Amino acid sequence: MKSVGIEIKNIALSFGSTAVLKDITLTIEPGEFFALLGPSGSGKSTLLRLIAGFNQHQRGELLIDGKDVTGTQPWLRNVGMVFQNYALWPHMTVAQNVAFGLEARKLPPAEIRAKVASALELVDMAGLANRRPGQLSGGQQQRVAIARTLAIEPQVLLLDEPLSNLDAKLRTQTRQELVQLQRRLGITTIFVTHDQEEALTTCHRIAVMDQGVIQQVGSPMDLFDFPVNRFVAQFVGSVN
Ligand code: ADP
Ligand code: MG
Repeated sequence: MKSVGIEIKNIALSFGSTAVLKDITLTIEPGEFFALLGPSGSGKSTLLRLIAGFNQHQRGELLIDGKDVTGTQPWLRNVGMVFQNYALWPHMTVAQNVAFGLEARKLPPAEIRAKVASALELVDMAGLANRRPGQLSGGQQQRVAIARTLAIEPQVLLLDEPLSNLDAKLRTQTRQELVQLQRRLGITTIFVTHDQEEALTTCHRIAVMDQGVIQQVGSPMDLFDFPVNRFVAQFVGSVN
């Protein structure tokens, strides 16, 4: 599948009188593994949900693969989102959870079975296809959530703090697996995190966000060596 780019131009979004995204401009290249890094409440999830189509902006433009998707429903955007809390169906097996989005698209059963199998293979969960989420560890549940998202073959992968519910050891391991998976698929990916080390060690480029404003965009080295302001310097840890 070809990789697609994302262009965010002067986007503003408010909830009531609260401005949450303020004039956001950002270009994400096709195939890029891009991090949105910022403290809690800075607007990361809001921006991700906007790209997915769950939030609407009041001003600005959002282009995916060169097309303005403003007002387009989430399921027509070819974008897959993985949530922090996994959001799996507890009464369904792993395979049924992964099949869910494919069944909603009314694919033939044989095709669904093949796509479920290959998605579970990607995250190394093929052996646990008949378990229910309650019988899995947090890390395994997160893999299933990733498989479910990849099964629909999105052109863009949005990950909202996908590792934050995992313990430290599993977090490092899963992080490395995500890097490999992203590289293998070449899928344009936005990875949201409040953890600077996670962003610096996984992504091609990082946007540092604070209070609804992008403070700086750059490679891990750029941000670390040439922070544009004190907030960025402190947040990426190049000064105390
Ligand atoms: P982050 O993901 O960086 O922690 P969020 O995007 O979740 O930040 O939230 C940014 C701000 O927007 C917060 O102040 C939050 O309370 C507010 N916010 C998020 N969603 C809503 C909503 N649906 N209605 C009102 N305020 C919201
Ligand atoms: Mg968030």
